[in-house]
Amino acid sequence: MRVAVLSDIHANWHALEAVLADLDTEQPDEVWCLGDLVGYGPQPNRCTTETRARSAICLAGNHDLGAIGKLELTDFSPDAATTARWTAEILEDEARSYLESLEPTGERQGLQMYHGSPRDPVWEYVLSEPAARAALELTTSDIVLVGHSHIPIALRLLDGTIAGGLAKGGSDLDLDQGRWLLNPGSVGQPRDGDARAAYLLLDLDTKHAHFRRVPYDVEATQAEIRENGLPEELAARLAGGE
Ligand code: ZN
Repeated sequence: MRVAVLSDIHANWHALEAVLADLDTEQPDEVWCLGDLVGYGPQPNRCTTETRARSAICLAGNHDLGAIGKLELTDFSPDAATTARWTAEILEDEARSYLESLEPTGERQGLQMYHGSPRDPVWEYVLSEPAARAALELTTSDIVLVGHSHIPIALRLLDGTIAGGLAKGGSDLDLDQGRWLLNPGSVGQPRDGDARAAYLLLDLDTKHAHFRRVPYDVEATQAEIRENGLPEELAARLAGGE
């Protein structure tokens, strides 16, 4: 079985559209989403509807929970809180009820997945070796999937040692030895200095991971952010993938 793992779409339709077009070529058997369909970006309804239509499993992220009133916005950065309030206003009933049905943890085909981490599925960023070790100690599957940080990473635990790090676009990994913690990176707001949309292709039969990057029309999303009066910084950061 081949799976496409998407995360942190953040209401960036042009990025999601480019990824979905890439999936038409790659033809995975399933699409999995690790959460944050909305927040920061200008097209929450379309991104939620399309993700719902395409994904076999989808988690809730902190921004999804913030937009539907399940998380206090006092824990959000000012720009994130502003966008969450705007999203809550324009979210249509169908999209809202779908987001309300999601959880920040999940399991499919024996793989454990979390928006943030096993010990804090909503908020924790797994970016350090101790955080990765804790995540792998609290889980049992050979491959553990997390999102939330917007940084694509591949970390392996083998014989008690954690190795690996940033997974650049085009990285190919064999997963047959050890246990792995993988983050596909972000479709709609990459933060690793590469502006292209990120996602992960997993072949569960051959135990192979391929980190994909897909160019998209960044300026179109920036224009929509500005048209809707959302914070300028949220448009500017997309250009450099910051
Ligand atoms: Zn996010």
